[in-house]
Amino acid sequence: MKIVSELKEIKELCKSLKKQEKTIALVPTMGFLHAGHISLIKKAREKANIVIVSRFVNPTQFAPNEDLDAYPNDRERDHKATSEAGTDILFEPLATAMYNENHGAWVEVPELGKLLCGQTRPIHFRGVCTVVTKLFNLIQPDFAVFGKKDFQQLAIIRRMVRDLNMNVEIIAGDIIREDDGLAMSSRNAYLTKEERSLAPFIRKGLLLLAEKAKNGEHNANSLYVIFSQFIQEHIPQARIDYVKMIDKDELTELENLKDCAVVAVAVYLGKARLIDNILIESK
Ligand code: AMP
Repeated sequence: MKIVSELKEIKELCKSLKKQEKTIALVPTMGFLHAGHISLIKKAREKANIVIVSRFVNPTQFAPNEDLDAYPNDRERDHKATSEAGTDILFEPLATAMYNENHGAWVEVPELGKLLCGQTRPIHFRGVCTVVTKLFNLIQPDFAVFGKKDFQQLAIIRRMVRDLNMNVEIIAGDIIREDDGLAMSSRNAYLTKEERSLAPFIRKGLLLLAEKAKNGEHNANSLYVIFSQFIQEHIPQARIDYVKMIDKDELTELENLKDCAVVAVAVYLGKARLIDNILIESK
């Protein structure tokens, strides 16, 4: 596995790979890799001749009060994990190289970016879209792989690519979970032992909600109450940021379940803000 940090070098390398008619799949990450990231790398491996993983904690998607400085980092472990998963090139640029001091261009999907996580993280998706665009411009990938765990992010990236005619196919990877159901996340490292033992109740609450929906409860507010009460009972110290039943493409909130919908949640637990989602069906 080749490790590249210079922007000029990754650009030239990718240009020459393209000249050799190699297809490229990109997996953008913020590092501190877990099995969720690895599953995306494996998906990328199936798609293209060359797999590039980016490892970059993007400062522009963090607000000043968020966890940019605390974000977990283990460079050596990431190098080993990416290499073992079949990565050809690991791109890990410096923030000072990615962003000029007077950086002034942004990419946004404002309608989708202000919903859900955008309510509490208003600049987040502008930062995500901008860095992903920069990575696409540097690497010119044929494919880019994103996880369904960040459901809103995936929908926004798809919309950005469609509306700006970006020449890349977006591939979605399923949510990878711990044995007890907790969605894997680099931020799970913030949880204390006790919080970690309670965190799987988020998934259990979503499964309960999905079961109630299947058995005829189609009203969104009633489903929210079922989830909220379950969380209050099992993780009293948690605070629900949001629980929303949404259209899977438009991300707009639905009052009643017709055929299927996604329920997305964000829950504060200790120092972590955990997100998860589930596809629910009316029958
Ligand atoms: P991150 O490093 O958290 O920015 O995530 C990088 C990519 O990995 C994103 O496309 C995420 O959606 C994806 N990802 C994170 N956690 C999981 C998971 N548990 N299962 C599948 N993909 C994930």
